[in-house]
Amino acid sequence: MIKTVKGCKDRYEKDIKLFQYSKRVLSETAEQYGYTEIVTPIIEYTELFQRSVGQDTDIVEKEMYTFEDKGGRSLTLRPEITASIARSYVEHHFETIPSPLRLYYIGPCFRYEKPQKGRYREFYQFGVEAIGDISPLLDAEVISLAFTVAKRFSLKEIKVKLNSIGCKKCRPLYKDALKNALKLRYDDLCDDCKKRFYTNPLRILDCKKESDELKKSLPKIADYLCEECKEHLDAVKKHLTLMDIPFERDSSLVRGLDYYTKTVFEVVSTNLGAQNALLGGGRYDYLIEELGGRHVPAVGFAMGIERLITILEAEEKTVEKRPIIYIAYQENALKETMDIASILRDNDFIVLMDVKGGNFKKQLERSAKQHSLYTIIIGEEEKEKRVLQIKNMETKEQKEIPSDQIITFLKDHIKGEKNA
Ligand code: AMP
Repeated sequence: MIKTVKGCKDRYEKDIKLFQYSKRVLSETAEQYGYTEIVTPIIEYTELFQRSVGQDTDIVEKEMYTFEDKGGRSLTLRPEITASIARSYVEHHFETIPSPLRLYYIGPCFRYEKPQKGRYREFYQFGVEAIGDISPLLDAEVISLAFTVAKRFSLKEIKVKLNSIGCKKCRPLYKDALKNALKLRYDDLCDDCKKRFYTNPLRILDCKKESDELKKSLPKIADYLCEECKEHLDAVKKHLTLMDIPFERDSSLVRGLDYYTKTVFEVVSTNLGAQNALLGGGRYDYLIEELGGRHVPAVGFAMGIERLITILEAEEKTVEKRPIIYIAYQENALKETMDIASILRDNDFIVLMDVKGGNFKKQLERSAKQHSLYTIIIGEEEKEKRVLQIKNMETKEQKEIPSDQIITFLKDHIKGEKNA
């Protein structure tokens, strides 16, 4: 038997319902904030991620699905989408569009990680990018959008964590101070962090293997921020407070991608276990420039849809099913049945036509197995009289109504039941 690829999954039944529902709420929320959708290819040239995410990150070092195509080009299944959007921005001269440019995306990403709860090899990311302005208001807007998403799903147990990782001016000073302190503790570091010490020492701050005692003993980025970064962070905090968004400062929050500057944030949930970040994001003021564009500051976040669904399941959220209308009929009323099915579908009802035939008792049994709300019954007599029988499958009540009143009847009777 051929199975799904390790770390990937099929989505059906309950899974697909929550997945579709999530995508719908996420895109509606982004649209309400004035963000429009962008769809970019799933494959990109490998160089894009090497240059943007960073050569020394876990993603580029260990996790990319990279292959050579038949033309000898090195291609990669995207491990994230911000880099693709920055590439698209430069390639299509989006700087000619009035800024800030507000974009959102939903699509699959791929990382060769050890599969576990909350970590898959194929996963979906929803994300937003606000490109073209340095204002801290934009950071706050993006965080507010993330918070609104959490509210729309009525998520409990969530927290916004906020930090600044400085800019090109102040971060090198902090890195030096950090390395000086870490040098004294080098032997205590885990094997990965021993490597990170040389390549990406900031990542040691959020390594799960290092002890709290070690982390607490290290210098804090807050003490090294330049005036500009300090003012920026204070302004973001002020705007979040104005918007009643609760947050906490977390000086060990650094994020795993190289392109961030100044603001970084995460929304975490206690319902997620070890991989507790529902979403993560921040500013990336130099990324577009590094990909050959002008200096265009930007801010955004990415959320894992599987993690959102995990929280929804933990909080026992279900998506109500839209009612099904089943049609049972006699062979000689097939034309009338098909006409009714078509009118109902045009009016946005979900219609199942029986295909196995047989007597009405059998067809009604099949209707019940499909958990339909109503069964429409059309026999020879109904066809002649231009009426139909409609049976409520819950109350078992059956009524005869003129065929041309079916839409009004259903709209009146299933009002309010058709939601998700
Ligand atoms: P990142 O792009 O690493 O900043 O991750 C942003 C968000 O994507 C995380 O907060 C997760 O919700 C989600 N995510 C990242 N990697 C995975 C993965 N391997 N499986 C599932 N979700 C992931």
